[in-house]
Amino acid sequence: LVRLRARLARSQTSLGKGLLALLAREHLDEDTWEEIEDTLLTADVGVASTQELVDRLRTRVKVLGTRTPADLRALLHEELLTLVGPDLDRTLKTARHTGGEAGDRPAVVLVVGVNGTGKTTTTGKLARVLVADGRSVVLGAADTFRAAAADQLQTWGERVGARTVRGPEAGDPASVAFDAVKEGIAEGVDTVLVDTAGRLHTKTGLMDELGKVKRVVEKHGPVDEVLLVLDATTGQNGLVQARVFAEVVDITGIVLTKLDGTAKGGIVVSVQRELGVPVKLIGLGEGPDDLAPFEPSAFVDALIG
Ligand code: GDP
Repeated sequence: LVRLRARLARSQTSLGKGLLALLAREHLDEDTWEEIEDTLLTADVGVASTQELVDRLRTRVKVLGTRTPADLRALLHEELLTLVGPDLDRTLKTARHTGGEAGDRPAVVLVVGVNGTGKTTTTGKLARVLVADGRSVVLGAADTFRAAAADQLQTWGERVGARTVRGPEAGDPASVAFDAVKEGIAEGVDTVLVDTAGRLHTKTGLMDELGKVKRVVEKHGPVDEVLLVLDATTGQNGLVQARVFAEVVDITGIVLTKLDGTAKGGIVVSVQRELGVPVKLIGLGEGPDDLAPFEPSAFVDALIG
């Protein structure tokens, strides 16, 4: 975790450091407030949240009196944390259902997103986290359109000790997803993780396909999580993608990948606001251990540096 924090901090500090330096200026004139606004917008915090934050900072700085670095840091931490949503429920529903209304069956997680965002990698890393936590996992390679995706997922599965269910190349994704959950039920595992295809060039195609995957999987029972994987480096494009996916399926959590390679961590704020869904996991590199739960306070610490 310390390593992850360090990695996050390396790429993110320009936002917090920049804001702190601006707030510490002797004269907080209109130009400075504009620069503060620009800094937030550049980091993809989004227009509405930027406006809110700047208004609050203006008010609070006025009554602050002295502006020592420690004062400013505490104030900024508090305000950024409020924006990030410290109280949102970010738990991942990955525990097996035993008895009750849901019956005795694995938790089912669909991983969705545009190809290239890190969907397959995230599915593999998540399997690793769960297995390390003592859970048993079945992987569903329902991204049947990207030729290498199933092999890639299977390699992850072999590495962590999870069976991968796959279908024929260019086969029906919904049928692979269905089979994966069936296998998970038969084997009595804790969690089934289904990697899906995300081609955005035909929106209707995606709608039909993803909607079908979900409906077919639901024949086994309700889906527990639909995780939308977004590449943090894609900024506004990522938000447009998020909107499209949210129209097709009810997203329950966001995974922001590639936060190691960008200073645009403000996307956490804008995407949560846009979808009304919390960021639950973050990707901080290509390695097997580079997936972490999203912790608001640690994230803001990393932003401020
Ligand atoms: P998919 O098409 O969405 O399944 O994407 P992949 O899982 O194949 O990932 C696309 C590329 O992004 C690969 O080279 C991954 O190693 C890389 N990647 C995934 N997650 C991260 C991350 O958090 N940080 C970085 N730097 N690279 C990542």
